[in-house]
Amino acid sequence: MIKPDGVQRGLVGEVIKRFEQRGYKLVGLKMLNVERSLAEKHYADLSEKPFFGALVDYICSGPVVAMVWEGRNIVLTGRKMIGATNPQASEPGTIRGDYAIEVGRNVIHGSDSVENAQKEIALWFGENLAE
Ligand code: ATP
Ligand code: MG
Repeated sequence: MIKPDGVQRGLVGEVIKRFEQRGYKLVGLKMLNVERSLAEKHYADLSEKPFFGALVDYICSGPVVAMVWEGRNIVLTGRKMIGATNPQASEPGTIRGDYAIEVGRNVIHGSDSVENAQKEIALWFGENLAE
C-alpha cells in the first residue's frame, strides 16, 4: 500500500515502476480514503503501541493506493525493496531509503508474511481481484 505521503508526493508511478521492473505482476489496484475502522484492523497487531493513534491518523490523512503483487518470493523480496521500517536505517536503493526520512511518513506498507498478505488482501480487496 502506498501511504498518504507517497500519494501526495507523486510517488505512485515510481513505486509501481520498481515492482514491475523487478518482474512482479500487478493483480489488484485501487485508490481509496481509508476509514478508521479499516486502518485499525490493518494495524491491529500494533494497537498497544504508543504511536498507534498517530499511525491510524496518518493512514487516514489522505488517499492511499492499495495493491496486490504476484510473483516469486514477492513478500520477502518486496520487503527488501521497501527497506527498513525506520528510514534512518533504510538502505539507499530501497524505496524508504530513497524517498523517506521519518518513520511516521515512510511512503509504503508491505505485508510481512504470506499469511498476513492473505489476510490483508481479504481485508482490503475481498473478492474483487483480477487473476
Ligand atoms: P508497514 O507495516 O507499514 O509496512 P513495517 O512492517 O516496516 O511497516 P511495523 O512495525 O509494522 O513496520 O509498523 C507499522 C508502521 O508503524 C511503520 O511503517 C511506521 O509508519 C509506524 N511506526 C513503526 N514504529 C514506529 C515508531 N517507533 N514511531 C512512530 N511510528 C512507527
Ligand atoms: Mg508491518
